[in-house]
Amino acid sequence: MERIDHIGIAVRDLEQSLKFYRDQLGLNETGREEVEEQKVRVAFLPVGDSKIELLESTDPKGPVAKYIDAKGEGIQHIALRVDNLQQKLNELKEKGVSLIDEEPRAGAGGANIAFVHPRSTGGVLLELCER
Ligand code: ZN
Repeated sequence: MERIDHIGIAVRDLEQSLKFYRDQLGLNETGREEVEEQKVRVAFLPVGDSKIELLESTDPKGPVAKYIDAKGEGIQHIALRVDNLQQKLNELKEKGVSLIDEEPRAGAGGANIAFVHPRSTGGVLLELCER
């Protein structure tokens, strides 16, 4: 584990949220991207070696829309940077950890990602991220 790669925040309206994070708080927006597979539009705002990732759903049935329906806007996941994602997934599986993804898949920013189920993490959706 190298660092917290990013914190994913589910928002209803990316532009509206950027008025706080970018314009009022003063973070720089360094990229924006649509991740078709996860039905999200994402904006990245680096903070030191980590980033805030704002996530707006592009589909009312997508995971971020469902999250907001259930819990409202807020921190949706925390992502830890790992240097060998598949190996880490294999280790966790051997230890009996509940994985949402047993194989890496494509995430935002060109990363390979996989999610660990909140039932194994104390209620946090944990993303492992390899760049
Ligand atoms: Zn993420």
